[in-house]
Amino acid sequence: MILLPMKRVSIICASTFEARVIELLYETGAQGLTSFPVRGIGSQGEIEAASVQIEVILQPAKAEELLQRLRRDFFADHALVAYESDVQDEPPAESHVTTAEEQARLTPDAVLQEFKEGNRRFRSGQVTRRNHREQVRKSAPGQFPKAMVLSCLDSRVPVEDVFDQGIGDLFVGRVAGNFVNTDLLGSMEFACKVAGAKMILVMGHQHCGAIRGAIDDVKLGNLTSLLANIKPAVALSQDFPGEKTSANPLYVKHVAENNVRVALANIRSKSPILQEMAEEGQIKIVGAFYRLTDGTLEFIE
Ligand SMILES: [Zn+2]
Repeated sequence: MILLPMKRVSIICASTFEARVIELLYETGAQGLTSFPVRGIGSQGEIEAASVQIEVILQPAKAEELLQRLRRDFFADHALVAYESDVQDEPPAESHVTTAEEQARLTPDAVLQEFKEGNRRFRSGQVTRRNHREQVRKSAPGQFPKAMVLSCLDSRVPVEDVFDQGIGDLFVGRVAGNFVNTDLLGSMEFACKVAGAKMILVMGHQHCGAIRGAIDDVKLGNLTSLLANIKPAVALSQDFPGEKTSANPLYVKHVAENNVRVALANIRSKSPILQEMAEEGQIKIVGAFYRLTDGTLEFIE
């Protein structure tokens, strides 16, 4: 038996006709019905707000029959648009979540490699399609994350997406300027020693406002004491051979990279637990710089 590709029929109608159209769709045996509000332009050029788009997937013969019935029953007196299109063969959305056994089998090197590959998918627009609802359900009983990422607050750094990871895959610590303090070190110790994560990745980023604020010695409320955490990186950057101001993106990047190096050194010197785990090869502690302009990660030694 040859299976013809399924057809998607899309119908746009005034929301007052939605119930009648849906009734007809069920009569024709449509599956996977979705319906969402849309706005269009009316015959007088006005915006028509109260329209709805309904989509169903049907066998080709049924799709043709449906279009004919819509034409006969609705087109004469109601503003309605309907068309059919091929349903592309899409792989099912990923619904798996990392299990305890999978986490136990992972090595720090494998996690780093996976994150590099995930970033390659992210920056080429090939992120994994995920069924978040299923992942929420499956991850609820327990978590077995692969890594902890310490990131800046910046809204342009979507941490899970940057590594193409799903629900339950990552611990994420965020603070403006991605520095470590006692609380973040405690969080990292929990992530690795208690919850089994195999890597700590400290991620600075391009055009970081916190780094620029530290360079400019900004004074503002509680931000003043926050920025003091980034001052060691500014002090480390005095050898920069160029204009040392927040207006120079190369200098801002230089300080941001040094800021990651300071965080890595602090993790090792202030957490004997993490330092020992790293020495024994149970975890990897790495740094990276995220380029906002193209989504690329540069790893920092
Ligand atoms: Zn930032």
